Order: sequence, then structure tokens, then C-alpha cells
Amino acid sequence: MQAEKKETELTTMKFIGAHVSASGGVENAPLNAQAIGANAFALFTKNQRQWVSPPLTERSITLFKERCQQYGFQPEYILPHDSYLINLGHPDAEGLEKSRSAFLDEMQRCEQLGLKFLNFHPGSHLNRISPEACLDRIAESINIVLSKTQGVTAVIENTAGQGSNMGFSFYHLRHIIDRVDDKNRVGVCIDTCHTFTAGYDLNEQYEQVWKELDEVVGWKYLKAIHLNDSKKPLASHVDRHDNIGKGFITPSFFEKLMKDTRFNNIPIILETPDESLWAEEIAWLRGISKD
Ligand SMILES: [Zn+2]
Ligand SMILES: [Zn+2]
Repeated sequence: MQAEKKETELTTMKFIGAHVSASGGVENAPLNAQAIGANAFALFTKNQRQWVSPPLTERSITLFKERCQQYGFQPEYILPHDSYLINLGHPDAEGLEKSRSAFLDEMQRCEQLGLKFLNFHPGSHLNRISPEACLDRIAESINIVLSKTQGVTAVIENTAGQGSNMGFSFYHLRHIIDRVDDKNRVGVCIDTCHTFTAGYDLNEQYEQVWKELDEVVGWKYLKAIHLNDSKKPLASHVDRHDNIGKGFITPSFFEKLMKDTRFNNIPIILETPDESLWAEEIAWLRGISKD
């Protein structure tokens, strides 16, 4: 009994990293993550501001895998993010088609790299279709792409609700998940800045917010956390990340989360603006965390 317990304790811990640069090739991301003391990381597998990028080379793929192994980064703790141009709920047929094929390409890149997740913002209705129709389209887009790929889970990120962006309510995430055929390959990433500016009070209602996530979405769908402070106040619906301890989210929130074992064994990724602070932020978070 005692030995068994010890074993579980050993295998459960916090995996903390940042969205590191893959400039010069995806194979550089694990090096950049290792340099800041991370044991998890996020990356773009292509230029995030262009529709089309050249395919990954065999050399890049091999080096990426070798370096991940060398530095101990397992696919479960690597969270690729898709291009900002993609809108899986696009109101127009042409924009929707373009987004779906770009998303398929992103998924296939993850497959090639042996990765398990693809993190993305759900989409925007652009005031041309109803929010509900937009969510339905997003689910349909996910179904199409999942049916053409294998082994990669679509990880929907909650948003601040800026402009016509969907995903600011936990109910939006639920609406999409309900319509995804393969429930084993869909999940969510909760961004703390987005959650806060969407109106969930992480400072004053820590337990209530997570309880609501569990009740509305379901804990088993939580695949990752984006750990960001916010330059904008509660319910401002503005997406402006800040470095930890510099914004409107209190340090005590971050302390609670790092001591909360419900966040063990999933990637916890910083997307804070001043990357020169990442090593320091990771060290601080690790220092206060309780596994
Ligand atoms: Zn995020
Ligand atoms: Zn953001």
C-alpha cells in the first residue's frame, strides 16, 4: 500500500514552461525550452502569420524528436499552437474552407512531429452569423479535421471575448464539445488571462471558477493551462497578457494554482510578454508549487 502510494506521488508533478520561439526551425524549440528551465513548452510549427509555410523537413522532424528525448520533453507536455489567421467558425464559405485546410495542415505537422495536442482559439462570427451558428461551424470543422488525422487531440482555448471571438464562456466550450464526434480527441486549454478578462473572478472566486469549469465542461477535458497575468481588469474582454505578478491577477491566485494538485501532469504554459523573465517566472512557480 505504502509503496504503491509512493509511486503515484513520484509520477505526479507540475509541468511548467513557456511558448518558446521555433525560429530557424521547430528543432530549436526544445533547446529554447531547456534554456529557461522548462519541463513543458508550446511552439508554432509554422509561421503563425502566414497561410502557407513550407513543409517540415525530415531533418527538422528528426532533430526535434531527438532533442525532445535528450532533454526529457514528452509529447504530453508539448502544446503546439495554430496560426492566428485560422477561423474555424468563419461565416463565409471561402474563409471557412481556407481555415479548415490550414488547420488540417497544422494537425498533420503535429502528427509528423509525434505530438498529441493542437491548441487553437475557437473562432469568430464577425457579426455575420449568430454566435450559435458560429459554434456549430467550429464543431463541424473539428469533426472534419479529426476524421482526416490520427492521434492528435484538438485543444480548444477559452478566450477573453474580444470583438466577435467565441469561447469566452465555459458554455461555448461545452457547446462545441457536445457536437464533436470523437470525444477522446477533444479537450480544452484554460488561459488565466482570458478567463479573468472574460469575467471569471480568479482572485476572489478561485474555487467557484474551477467548480464551474468542472460542472459545465468537465475536468477530464482540461488538457492544458496558459498561465498569464492580465494587463486589463476583470470582465474587460480585452486580451492583453502581463508577466506574472505585474497585472490585475493577484500573486495569491498563482500560488493557489501551483499548490493545486488538479493541475499536475498537464502542460502549464507561460505566454507572458517579457520573455527575458521566463526563467525567473518558472523558477518562482516551481519554488511555490506543491506536487
Ligand atoms: Zn493563451
Ligand atoms: Zn491571449
